[in-house]
Amino acid sequence: MNMMRGIAATMVVALALAAPVSAREPDGDGGVKVGRMSILRNLVSEEGLEQQAGLQYDALTRKAYQQQALLGENHPTTQRVRKIAGELLPHATKFNERAKTWKWEINVINSPTVNAFCMPGGKIVVFTGIIDKLKMSDDEIALVVGHEIAHALREHSRARAAKGTITNVGAIAVSILTGSNAVGQLASVGGDLLGRKFSRNDETEADLVGMELAARAAYDPRAGVGLWEKMSTFSKGAPPQWLSTHPSGAARIQTFKDNIKDVIGLYEKAKNGG
Ligand SMILES: [Zn+2]
Repeated sequence: MNMMRGIAATMVVALALAAPVSAREPDGDGGVKVGRMSILRNLVSEEGLEQQAGLQYDALTRKAYQQQALLGENHPTTQRVRKIAGELLPHATKFNERAKTWKWEINVINSPTVNAFCMPGGKIVVFTGIIDKLKMSDDEIALVVGHEIAHALREHSRARAAKGTITNVGAIAVSILTGSNAVGQLASVGGDLLGRKFSRNDETEADLVGMELAARAAYDPRAGVGLWEKMSTFSKGAPPQWLSTHPSGAARIQTFKDNIKDVIGLYEKAKNGG
């Protein structure tokens, strides 16, 4: 237990070093258009929700570690995902100033689950299933991680909690600790808290903000089109879990196509050294 805490603390420090928060981007340098965040979210304490999410994340990663499913920090996949995510994070504060105070954590869990999520407060999990089964490129990983980070930045869970569509986060955490089929359960628990209840509008916002985060970090936002087509093809058998919370299809692909013009300049600029 103490060792896990030590590991977690080390990861936090390492991430803080890897992803310094840069100065705020000057206004008016382009980017996607998203509206104001839901006012309803103010009914729920951000500290409280982040704290609960942090506890749940600790429980989840500890359980994965006990089951030898948590990839170590030297694992190439962990390093790959942390590098990509670490490049997105300096751009996060443009969308939420509070992200400066978050202790970002990025972990990869070995599981066939095709899923990824980011809890309130910047706690990210990517399952190996989504990377391996979709044979994801770095651009595609950046878009998926960017999408999940965007849900946290736009405080979609907080708004959902305020609307009462996420209930009893504490009970979910307990079920993680006592669960028998833990890794599979972890995957679905993450979905329960973080994805299932998001509205279509939340998903569109996350796509747009995720695209911009990727573009600003010099990952090609146009990869979203191929990624979603790949998701759709893959889902012809058993739909991957990520798709159950993230409806795909033509409309979504069209959203990507329609909005690339807002971020392509940022991508070109970043690719040419900013
Ligand atoms: Zn989503």
